Amino acid sequence: MSELLPDHRRVLRDYYMASSVEEAIAYLAAHPGDAQIIGGGTKLMPLLQRGQAVATRLVDVSRITSMKRVRIEGEFLVIGGAVTYAQLLIKELVAGHMPILAEVAQMVGTTQLRQQASLAGSIVHARGNSEGAITLIALGAEAEIANLTGAQWMPVRALFVRPGVSRVNSTAEIVTAVRIPLLGVGQGAAVARVEPGPGEGYSPLIAAVALGLGPDDDALDWFTLSVGTPSSVPRQWQLSELANGRPAAPPDLRQAALAAALPARAASPEEGAPDPQQASAAILAAYDQALARARASRAAPPATAP
Ligand SMILES: Cc1cc2nc3c(=O)[nH]c(=O)nc-3n(C[C@H](O)[C@H](O)[C@H](O)COP(=O)(O)OP(=O)(O)OC[C@H]3O[C@@H](n4cnc5c(N)ncnc54)[C@H](O)[C@@H]3O)c2cc1C
Repeated sequence: MSELLPDHRRVLRDYYMASSVEEAIAYLAAHPGDAQIIGGGTKLMPLLQRGQAVATRLVDVSRITSMKRVRIEGEFLVIGGAVTYAQLLIKELVAGHMPILAEVAQMVGTTQLRQQASLAGSIVHARGNSEGAITLIALGAEAEIANLTGAQWMPVRALFVRPGVSRVNSTAEIVTAVRIPLLGVGQGAAVARVEPGPGEGYSPLIAAVALGLGPDDDALDWFTLSVGTPSSVPRQWQLSELANGRPAAPPDLRQAALAAALPARAASPEEGAPDPQQASAAILAAYDQALARARASRAAPPATAP
């Protein structure tokens, strides 16, 4: 691997292929501040090649069997920390229980990138408009973070410090899995984005909505909208902020969600910020599709309705 780096840059001294989470943590602990986790390497490798990464030792977690699993555990779909976007496209459990994740995977990068890039890597990479992270936030997902002292589940939304900076310290910690509450009858989720302009690699805005209808279809019992742009941490709005926590009629909430999400963007114009009209179209598209899916699930319940 050292041939990746020109001599005048930091030299990569070791590339360690971990076979278990414990082994990877032990390696990090043995080389404090010097070793860093690598998943698919789609973000980290280019940084190393440009001499912009601090680590001189990499711990590869992409072949740890326990981190490559997708499983149902109670009321959660659990995705291992080494599962790539390409795998999300073919896993039956994803198609059957959380098809929105396959839609997200289809949005990310190119076919080649999806083969390598992991969902966990996109959380730690902390890009403000990561399709994966924004959707996980709307779905109320949590990440399991393991280090020398043990493991704990933390909400994905709490892991963003600022664009490009995660609360997860990948020189000491590993995201071993992500768990997502299963959607039941009367619940739906959707993700939409502003399409990138000519020459732009990434969409400037991603919006994701998850919601649940009350016993009759006239009101929403719960609702989450998350929105992300490249230069902000993902923002999130819930029923408690938009309708004082009370069930709300879908058309009212649709307007409230738009009114809440758009001024925040307009008040802090950002580099590469999307056109407000396109942004509203993306937010409303996500809202309308999530609602349509929630209604459709009454007729054809999802594979596992908790
Ligand atoms: C050309 C190109 C296009 C891209 N397009 C998109 C896009 O459309 N959407 C998008 O969201 N991103 C995109 N990315 C960014 C990046 O590829 C993704 O965020 C990807 O999911 C990162 O995952 P990875 O496994 O490759 O991470 P790596 O590159 O291996 O690591 C990225 C960071 O996460 C840490 N890390 C990785 N896995 C773990 C783990 N399990 N536990 C703890 N820390 C970990 C690493 O230490 C590093 O800090 C793109 C990148 C490139 C180069």
